[in-house]
Amino acid sequence: MLLERTIKLKLVPLDTESRRLLHDLLKKYAELLAEAQRLVVELDIRSVKRAHEALYKLLREMHRELHNKYAEEAYRRALANYRSYLKLKRKWEKRLRRLGFEEPRPPSAEGNKVIDLHISAFRLSPPLLEVSYGGGKTMKFLAMPNPLLAKYAGWRIGNSKILVDKGSAYLFLTVRRNVEPEARPNRIYVDVNESSIDLLVADWGHGLGLFLSVMHEGKEIRRRYRILRRSIQKKVREIRRRNQLLRKYGKRERERVNQAVRRAAKLMADLALAYNADVVVEKLKDVTWRPRGNGELNYRLRSLPYRRIVESIRDKAAERGVRVLEVDARNTSVECPICGHADKKNRKSTTEFRCTKCGFELHAQLVPTVNLARRCEGVVARPAGQEALLTLEEAPVVSSGEAPHDPVNHDPARGKALPVPKTAKIIKI
Ligand SMILES: [Zn+2]
Repeated sequence: MLLERTIKLKLVPLDTESRRLLHDLLKKYAELLAEAQRLVVELDIRSVKRAHEALYKLLREMHRELHNKYAEEAYRRALANYRSYLKLKRKWEKRLRRLGFEEPRPPSAEGNKVIDLHISAFRLSPPLLEVSYGGGKTMKFLAMPNPLLAKYAGWRIGNSKILVDKGSAYLFLTVRRNVEPEARPNRIYVDVNESSIDLLVADWGHGLGLFLSVMHEGKEIRRRYRILRRSIQKKVREIRRRNQLLRKYGKRERERVNQAVRRAAKLMADLALAYNADVVVEKLKDVTWRPRGNGELNYRLRSLPYRRIVESIRDKAAERGVRVLEVDARNTSVECPICGHADKKNRKSTTEFRCTKCGFELHAQLVPTVNLARRCEGVVARPAGQEALLTLEEAPVVSSGEAPHDPVNHDPARGKALPVPKTAKIIKI
């Protein structure tokens, strides 16, 4: 898995020539970008290959004196802008138009303050940054110290950016690293819900099964902003002002939800380290659609940033060398972990689960994680009247004739069965 981080470093030009070249480069790069943006939109260019064929030579001729990578970076950025505009526009046509949002405008390079740096156009050996202008000219900067540089030492440097703002310049340095997380003996099964993330911790080494419910604010934040949006739509008559307010609060809402998501993901990853566990989540492709209960509830569930939570968990886990496994999560809320009977009627309410076939009972909130465990490890059985989770290694011990009600002959060398916990410990974040 590829991890990527950005480090911001303040730049001080080391001489007047470097300062002059920087401003000259910014001006010329903005011209390249403006031309590239205009053409990409006009010719409806959607692939890098076509952009290169149609634009590279033309941009190169505009400013021959510049390093050739600036022409390439300009059309790449123009293309990226255009693609995200098309994506946003589709979203607007599908949904946002009805909610009163303004139609997105095609990208323009107006007021550009950023120079995109190809990896071959700069060299950083802290605290010195050298950026190639082209034609053998080089700009030299002092990159002000940032403790993150030490933290990400050893990561690969990738394409980066220089931002010039109100006379100050900053380097946005991109660093990357491939991580191969290590396999761990235990597991944390994660089920993301609208107001909580439910976890089953399976600590095989200590024979400990623990159910944790992490309350997150995602639902509450969204509910509050939905009310706010409705009242803006009702009360603010002037369209421009209304759109302005909707944008402002939309941005604030996204930031707050993202913050909650990151906090929750970080906690998952830290728990995984603490319990020496792999994290098991539902497969991402299942994440966007998962019917539970009535239509109103489905609507609210769909509006939740599941995908972002799961992606964020992956990211934070990878950063800590924790492995994330994916399991098919369809029907996990209505399927019986003991007999496998899947029926909506099994789930009596948000708290009660009772299998209509075998009578197995459990708090409904715990059921999905137990099912994830079952799908990942193999078996949930009732060795001595109490439901227990068995690893795949132990599973062959349960012969199909005696399971699930008969006692299981345990081979101590194969570890313990985990009792399935009946109650949850609730953590608020
Ligand atoms: Zn059952």
